[in-house]
Amino acid sequence: MQKISKVIILCIDAIEYDLVEKWDLKNLKQKEYGKTILPLSFGQEPATEIIWPCFITGKEPEEMGYSSLNIYSKSLKTIVPLISPVIKKLFINNKTNNRTQKIQGRLSLLYLSILLLKKVGLIYKPTKEDIKADTIFDNNKIKSVHLHIPVLDKDAFPEYRKDIIKVISEKLHHPIIEIKQKNEFTQRAKEVYDYIKKNNWQLFMQYFFVLDGIQHIFYKNHKKIAQFYLMFDEFIKKVSENIDDETLILIVSDHGVKRGIHTPYGFYSLNKKLGLNNPKLIDFREKIEEILVKA
Ligand SMILES: [Zn+2]
Repeated sequence: MQKISKVIILCIDAIEYDLVEKWDLKNLKQKEYGKTILPLSFGQEPATEIIWPCFITGKEPEEMGYSSLNIYSKSLKTIVPLISPVIKKLFINNKTNNRTQKIQGRLSLLYLSILLLKKVGLIYKPTKEDIKADTIFDNNKIKSVHLHIPVLDKDAFPEYRKDIIKVISEKLHHPIIEIKQKNEFTQRAKEVYDYIKKNNWQLFMQYFFVLDGIQHIFYKNHKKIAQFYLMFDEFIKKVSENIDDETLILIVSDHGVKRGIHTPYGFYSLNKKLGLNNPKLIDFREKIEEILVKA
C-alpha cells in the first residue's frame, strides 16, 4: 500500500449513500465508497450526538458514555420511578378509550416534562464531560486538529439548528435559513482549505452540519437537495486538488436521510483503496491510528 502520512476526515452529517449513487457524484465517491454499519441497537434511530462520539472513541454507545439523547441527572434517576405513577394518574386522560388519543396524550406529556426538566437542569444534552472513553485526539503519538465536532466541541451546531422545526412547520421563511446554511458551508469549507496549507497536523477533522438541516427542511424539494450535494461534490474536488499524494481523505456520515427521516446506515468514502467492505463506523478509529502511527 501507498504511504499515508496525513489523514483528513470530513464529517458530513446526513449524507445519504443512495443519493450519492443516484446522482453519481464522482468526487464524493472517490476511489472507494460504501455504506457503514452504525452503532445502533435494533430499531433505534441514529442520533447525531451519539454517533459522532462513538466514531471518535471507536466505542459502542454504552462504552462511550451514554446511549440516550437526554442525559438525566443522578437525582432524577431516583425520583422518576417514584413520581411517575402519580403523574400517570393525574395527567393521562383515562376517560377516552381511543387508543390514538391516549398515545398522543402520553407523548405530549412526555415532551412537556422533558422541556420542563431541561429548564430546571435535571435533563441536559450530552457535553464533552459525558464522553467517558478516550478519543482518537487523545492519542499523543498523533498531532491532531479537530473543528466543530458534535459534543466534543461546543461550536459544532450552527445557531439556526434550533429554527429547523419552525421552518418545517412553516412558522419561519425558508430563504433566511438557506442563507445561513450556505454561510455555514462556506465558512467550514474555508477552514478546511486553510488547514490544508498548514503543516502542523497529521490528522485533521472537520464537521459540517448543513446537509442534515437541508434534507429535513427541503425534503419535498429534490432539486434543492441536489444543489447542496453538488456543492459538497465540488468542495471535495477542490480539496483533492490541493493535497499531496500521502494524504488520505475520509468522508464519513452519521446516517443518511430519506423523505426527511434518518436512514439507519452511514456513508464513507476514501481517496485511496483500503478494501474496507461494509465497515463498522466505530472501526475507523483503530484503522486511522494504525495508519498514522506506522507513518
Ligand atoms: Zn437529522
